[in-house]
Amino acid sequence: MARKFAGGVLVIASHNPGKVREIGDLLAPFGASVISAHDFGLSEPIEDGDTFIENAEIKALAAAKASGHVALADDSGLCVHALGGEPGVYSARWAGPGKDFTVAMEKVEEALCAALAKDPSLDRSAHFACALTLAWPDGHVENFEGQVLGTMTWPARGEKGFGYDPTFIPQGFETTFAEMDPAQKHVMSHRANAFKKLVAACFETD
Ligand code: IMP
Repeated sequence: MARKFAGGVLVIASHNPGKVREIGDLLAPFGASVISAHDFGLSEPIEDGDTFIENAEIKALAAAKASGHVALADDSGLCVHALGGEPGVYSARWAGPGKDFTVAMEKVEEALCAALAKDPSLDRSAHFACALTLAWPDGHVENFEGQVLGTMTWPARGEKGFGYDPTFIPQGFETTFAEMDPAQKHVMSHRANAFKKLVAACFETD
């Protein structure tokens, strides 16, 4: 049985105000009043894990221990199967210090074309993954992971998303995530799948 969130302050281990607001709206019905790690004056730990779960745990545990409150962190990225799961936990880093995702998408496409030329049995399949960790100040953690499967396309299409959205077509669709209405993406995304598991296990009462 997963440990339940008992209500009250929940620290979101993110310095992105948009993300904090979105999570706050989602968890408000369960008595969570969210505060960002930034508002708490917490510094960002080094994310040096090899997996999304490891990185989410690093961030959530650091925030829980420093604040004395339950903390929630997420980590996400794009895993291209022909590239052995890259860029994976390095998804943000492939965009370089300027956070230029046009460059990152080009790098992925270049690497993918090289891999396909070398081994024609490979394909353009990929998935987005999102790990969520809920951590308590005593060191207890609950981890959840959501995924959405799809195919990499080129050239990039659409203006609505962020990151790698313009090159990712989710399974069963013909449009990229960046061509979709955000509401449509938000019900099927890796983040939505991870949140469904988190809420069912740690926030909903039986
Ligand atoms: P982080 O989890 O906020 O560190 O994000 C890691 C990186 O993964 C982001 O900078 C994006 O490049 C990529 N990423 C994560 N989720 C998505 C998504 O839904 N669409 C496009 N890119 C994403």
